[in-house]
Amino acid sequence: MNALKTFELIQKYSDCPLCGNDKVGNGAGKLIVEDDRFYRSCKCGWEVETDEQGNEKLINQ
Ligand SMILES: [Zn+2]
Repeated sequence: MNALKTFELIQKYSDCPLCGNDKVGNGAGKLIVEDDRFYRSCKCGWEVETDEQGNEKLINQ
């Protein structure tokens, strides 16, 4: 995934839309960036995954 798209998605999904948590790590949430996907989850159960274009493939809320 290119750096600009990665930055865009991190901004877009930085705050959990359900509980407002903006933390990742230490069990508070996860942020995974790979070549072909972006994944962000929150301790409350919210999660989103997109393809390399930022199109949502999975959203769980
Ligand atoms: Zn949350």
